[in-house]
Amino acid sequence: MKVYDVAVVGTGSVGSAAGYYSSTMGASVVQIDSEYPPHCKGSHHGETRLMRHAYAEGEKYIPLVLKAQCLWNDLELKTNKPIFHRVGVLNIAPKNTDFYKNVLMTAQQYNIPIKQYTTLEIQKRWPNWTFDASYIGLFEPDAGYLNAPLAIETYLSESRKIGASQLFGFEVIKIQYCETRDFVIIQSADGKEVYAKQVIVCAGTWIGKIFPELPVQPKRKVFEWFNISDQKLSEEKGFPAFAIQLKNSATYYGFPAKNGQIKIGRHDGGQNISTLNENSEYETYTNDAIEVEGLLKNHLSGVEHLSHGAACSYDMSPDEDFIIDWLNSKKNIQIVTGLSGHGFKFVSVLGWLMAQRALGKAIDYDLSAFRLNRFNDKTE
Ligand SMILES: Cc1cc2nc3c(=O)[nH]c(=O)nc-3n(C[C@H](O)[C@H](O)[C@H](O)COP(=O)(O)OP(=O)(O)OC[C@H]3O[C@@H](n4cnc5c(N)ncnc54)[C@H](O)[C@@H]3O)c2cc1C
Repeated sequence: MKVYDVAVVGTGSVGSAAGYYSSTMGASVVQIDSEYPPHCKGSHHGETRLMRHAYAEGEKYIPLVLKAQCLWNDLELKTNKPIFHRVGVLNIAPKNTDFYKNVLMTAQQYNIPIKQYTTLEIQKRWPNWTFDASYIGLFEPDAGYLNAPLAIETYLSESRKIGASQLFGFEVIKIQYCETRDFVIIQSADGKEVYAKQVIVCAGTWIGKIFPELPVQPKRKVFEWFNISDQKLSEEKGFPAFAIQLKNSATYYGFPAKNGQIKIGRHDGGQNISTLNENSEYETYTNDAIEVEGLLKNHLSGVEHLSHGAACSYDMSPDEDFIIDWLNSKKNIQIVTGLSGHGFKFVSVLGWLMAQRALGKAIDYDLSAFRLNRFNDKTE
């Protein structure tokens, strides 16, 4: 009977990295997933994810995101895969918003290169943008975007090379520590069992199917690709990725156009769902087609008609901050969830940290802000 050092349940984004780093640290590893990652049933499809360092979501994320960038760079160097695209990220928001203040404050505090632009200056450098003078721009040249499916594919293939086992099409329904045998038992929907000393659970949006007590709300979100009529919007011509908050608090993100198409999404809004089937195709809801209308109508020119869209899911925590914790007092089951639609950039560092903790190593990063007990949940 094989007892792995580390089992990773859910090997999409964070799980693919956790399995990889556990393997590089010499552990015997099994990576388990109900699907065949990367795939379109979780939170990671749609090609691209923003990689920002000056972070509106708060200071506690900055040491993590800076380490994440180093790990992404290392992965690229090692595998020669174009995972990170350093196209810069342009943040635009009204001057009086926390969004603007936090991006500026975190950049100053951590010496993250950033350049401030008035709206006139924005228009001069990127003429497709139009904003009134109450807005301000902060351009981070070292930021950009990650190719999410390629990153996952890379972590998984590199893990295989090092010797990790992979069990795909294996839907986990129960994870339980067995005191008499001193290992964790992972049970599948069709009655199979896997055993491991340590389990890292990264089941994303659907973690509640395994641990219903966790405060994670699945949310459906769409994003869209539009044909462009102006080549200035393309990556080749130097158009940056962007994160934009409007006066009505609507928050949008997007990427420079590739092959004549620009991808844009809206971060706020969306539909709460409770099953994977409810994460239905793009345009099931009438709202889908107007998600990014507020940005296109009033602020961005050079975008023509819609090409296509897709639906993805967020795993929302009650305060939209991550949940990273041990799930039992024995400290052999840990979870990473509640990434709330902003987790991909951290995938490398979260996988690396989870691997270290699973293998009993001390970590140099403060994860206390992400503990479950901030919701007074009595999960232990
Ligand atoms: C539209 C959209 C835009 C986004 N934009 C950004 C962005 O610009 N920047 C950014 O940093 N982040 C962004 N995010 C967020 C980021 O993509 C997610 O936070 C991240 O991908 C979540 O990773 P995960 O490992 O938790 O989930 P996933 O990648 O979904 O992986 C979870 C895995 O668990 C598996 N699984 C689930 N249940 C079980 C089970 N019972 N048994 C076995 N396996 C199971 C699934 O099949 C899946 O492979 C965005 C997300 C979306 C949806």
